[in-house]
Amino acid sequence: MAYIHIHKNNFEHNLNQLALKAGSKERLAVVLKDNAYGHGLTIMAGLAAEYGITQAVVISVEEAETIRPYFDRILILNGTPFPDETFSFAVTDLRQLATLDPAARIELKIDTGMHRNGIAMGELEEALAIIRDRGLGLVGVMTHYRSADVLSSEWYWQKKNFESVKQTVRSSGFKNVRFHSHNSAALLRSKRFDEDIARVGIAIYGYNELPDGYDPVLLRPVLSLHARRTSTRRLDAGARIGYGGDYTVSEPVTVSTYDLGYGDGWRRGDAARAYVTAEGLPILGRVSMDFISLAGDRESVCIMDNAQAAAHHFGTISYEMTTMLSPSIPRMII
Ligand SMILES: *Cc1c(COP(=O)(O)O)cnc(C)c1O
Repeated sequence: MAYIHIHKNNFEHNLNQLALKAGSKERLAVVLKDNAYGHGLTIMAGLAAEYGITQAVVISVEEAETIRPYFDRILILNGTPFPDETFSFAVTDLRQLATLDPAARIELKIDTGMHRNGIAMGELEEALAIIRDRGLGLVGVMTHYRSADVLSSEWYWQKKNFESVKQTVRSSGFKNVRFHSHNSAALLRSKRFDEDIARVGIAIYGYNELPDGYDPVLLRPVLSLHARRTSTRRLDAGARIGYGGDYTVSEPVTVSTYDLGYGDGWRRGDAARAYVTAEGLPILGRVSMDFISLAGDRESVCIMDNAQAAAHHFGTISYEMTTMLSPSIPRMII
């Protein structure tokens, strides 16, 4: 079986860097949605808690229940609110406010420009009125940036919108409401972070997706992906490997098959533009559902130790490379 190593030292290094940016580790809410971006939900929750992180963000109630023992506070981005000591729920649509349980702890998500989820800025006063009338448990107000990772003024425009949201909420007399808007890119580019928490995802896993031109914050990839040899053969010149025989051997060579494929969440890609593993071995021919072929006969190979570099090859982003990795691949802390 292919396997994943989780490099604990690199994770701690990244959290150190981000805590410096945020002002303290108490202000970091680690985003562990989607199986911790493919790194393994329980493993990453355990490591974060061990480091001293007290807050997390997930997508579902199921994820939140899995990591409940590790954190004081967990924000659920997409779940139906219910009363809970540890959980709070993002509310992204005005219509939810009419029916939700008043004993649930909610965080209003405001659409300050991304137009994906969130209550329109023009509906904020109405939302606050419903919250007051129904006695709902408002504990936070948040927004999400659409282009914090793009070198332009757009981020400043959305930040300004959120500042006006904060003013409206404060002047409406709500107390003990926390405000948060920063994802990784926003935290990495901010000079003076002054919100209650930052919701950091991709950066904790070791990727800085900001273009050149910002203060570089050096992060280290937390995950490496490995595969094991299942069989080896000697092939003569002219032999063709795998489905479609896309790869033709040009001279006698030893070729081994390794147990990773698109069924494990690895990209099938394009056999004509071979992916080259972390150790410099091009994948020979097509990627199968559970197997790939590589020259040589090593017992195990490192397929990827930097998801950003791999993403570059496949024309995607680091987020997708790691999040796609099957939860059934064993993950080990080293
Ligand atoms: C996924 C997500 C984040 C984390 O984004 P990164 O770019 O990975 O840091 C923060 N906030 C919300 C609402 C998200 O959905």
